[in-house]
Amino acid sequence: MAEFLLDPVQAARLHRRLGDDLQRMNDLMEQVKIVLCDMGNALTVLYGINHFTCDAWIWPLDVKWTTITGYFGDERGTWVHEGVDIAVPLGQPVYAPHAGVVISAKFNAAYGNRVRLEWSQEGVRWWVWLAHLISIAVIEGHAVMPGDVIGLSGETGNATGPHLHMTVQCESNHELLRGIPEVLRGCINPLTVLSIP
Ligand SMILES: [Zn+2]
Repeated sequence: MAEFLLDPVQAARLHRRLGDDLQRMNDLMEQVKIVLCDMGNALTVLYGINHFTCDAWIWPLDVKWTTITGYFGDERGTWVHEGVDIAVPLGQPVYAPHAGVVISAKFNAAYGNRVRLEWSQEGVRWWVWLAHLISIAVIEGHAVMPGDVIGLSGETGNATGPHLHMTVQCESNHELLRGIPEVLRGCINPLTVLSIP
């Protein structure tokens, strides 16, 4: 009967190599997961396929920034505020609050540097705007995961101090839009889908 014995040096080398291989495989699986998620999110936007959405909302800033300085529906003279304002110093990372595709990432006179994300969920299209950024880290067509950095906080556009403005919109006839006045154009209170951490 043959015996298969490894000397300790060989055994240690084999063990190490196995560990390295497993680690590499693990890293690869992580990348595959991200790619699948991105593809899934892109499909929801392009074809309205909803089988694969990474449906989770996360706070768009580090959890230490939670002070709301402007609420949904605030009267502001000639217009009504259609999102929330969160106080945050300049240059803090701003995270995608939901998986989606970047449909616009550019400067706007009122909103400053603004990123707009879109996705589809149960047949309904959704949009989020993140505004007044000092810089933008994504380009149109990018698929993002919740928590991906889309830019850095700022006070560009019509802002009286550094803060993040967030608007959440969903397609007409969504039940969340019931009772919301026309002046708010398909926007819902972001704090109905996103809780303050
Ligand atoms: Zn605002």
